[in-house]
Amino acid sequence: MKFVKSAICIQCGEEHHALPGLTTCRQCGGLLDILYDYPAIAANLSKQDLAARQDNTMWRFREFLPVAEESVAAGLLSSGLKVGGSPLYPAKALGGQLGLSSLFIKDDGLNPTASLKDRASALAVIKAIEAGADTIACSSTGNAASSLAGNAAARGLKTFIFVPSRAPKGKVAQLMMFGAKVISVEGSYEDTFRLSAEAIDRWGWYNRNAAINPYMLEGKKTVALEIAEQLNWQAPDYVAISVGDGCTIAGVWKGFKDLYETGFIDKLPRLISVQAAGCCPINNAVDADSETLVPMEENTLADSIAVGVPRNFLKAVRAIKESKGITVNVSDQEILEAMALLGKTQGVFGEPAGVTGTAGLIKALAEKRIPADATVVSVVTGNGLKDIANAINAAGQPLLLPPDLERLAGEFKNLGWLS
Ligand SMILES: [Zn+2]
Repeated sequence: MKFVKSAICIQCGEEHHALPGLTTCRQCGGLLDILYDYPAIAANLSKQDLAARQDNTMWRFREFLPVAEESVAAGLLSSGLKVGGSPLYPAKALGGQLGLSSLFIKDDGLNPTASLKDRASALAVIKAIEAGADTIACSSTGNAASSLAGNAAARGLKTFIFVPSRAPKGKVAQLMMFGAKVISVEGSYEDTFRLSAEAIDRWGWYNRNAAINPYMLEGKKTVALEIAEQLNWQAPDYVAISVGDGCTIAGVWKGFKDLYETGFIDKLPRLISVQAAGCCPINNAVDADSETLVPMEENTLADSIAVGVPRNFLKAVRAIKESKGITVNVSDQEILEAMALLGKTQGVFGEPAGVTGTAGLIKALAEKRIPADATVVSVVTGNGLKDIANAINAAGQPLLLPPDLERLAGEFKNLGWLS
């Protein structure tokens, strides 16, 4: 790993060699953060170098990623699923409706298994190969699981996946299709996580659990690297993102900080941390200016972010505070409304958790917590086809009628569809 210095514990500060199988602090069991040699990256990589690269995947930023030189030499970066390179749309119609002059939508639902989690899983499978493992396991609310199963299948690795039994069918269908061994746990995400951790301990699989494995956040940060490059190296004023486990928002912050430290951007954005009101332990801690987790129940239809005991709690809380970010909690109704509005105005179809960031942005604007002339990026983290039941809830039912033109004309008149 050319530019990786070490893995440092975020609790006790102990520095470790960043071995591929190392996931938590050997001293205290705390979470680890990967440290880079920023001057060396800056000396070896320029904006022009990046502009000249044909590779449109997340690996175009390989200098910022913890991948062994042997993996690069073996061609591992170009042989898996094509992860990253998702579009950043100028959202003029939605921005206009919200009174925001400069709004962009980063549609990360367009990744190979249809969520941002592919960025973490693509790196996870490479770290598993580097660690000599042939089997990877994780627990997930759904998307981390489907992305791990897909990215592992593409490389011939076996997967054991633990999901809460409430996981939407679209996500479970993906898992089964990718050949994963799926364990559907009758319990909360916390129960699911605990069982997976015990099983990983017993059978010695590679652990992709997002919060425990520090490399997952490194993969996720590539969404920030892409946003900055797509904005021609102008960091936005705000980035709105949904928050569950905390790994994604912490990853977004790390990505922007990496770019700042290496001189690719000259300012940092503020984070808009959006959680479902029915499950918002990270925002609660930020609002209370506390670093103590108070677990919550998981009462929201946005299944991907229904995490009552977020494992990346500390990294997320610190990221939001460091960025001088703001917290917004939204109701399930506000999430469904944002889902429909985003689809209608921009043609972007996100799942409930995927558009929760947008729902929070809409609320923050209505409450005048964000200036109308700010440049804002809203990240859509997962595709709406993963959760059809809630999509129908958000968008409503089609007009049902027999094949009769006069009936159709009558309905058009009633509904005002032609005016
Ligand atoms: Zn430690």
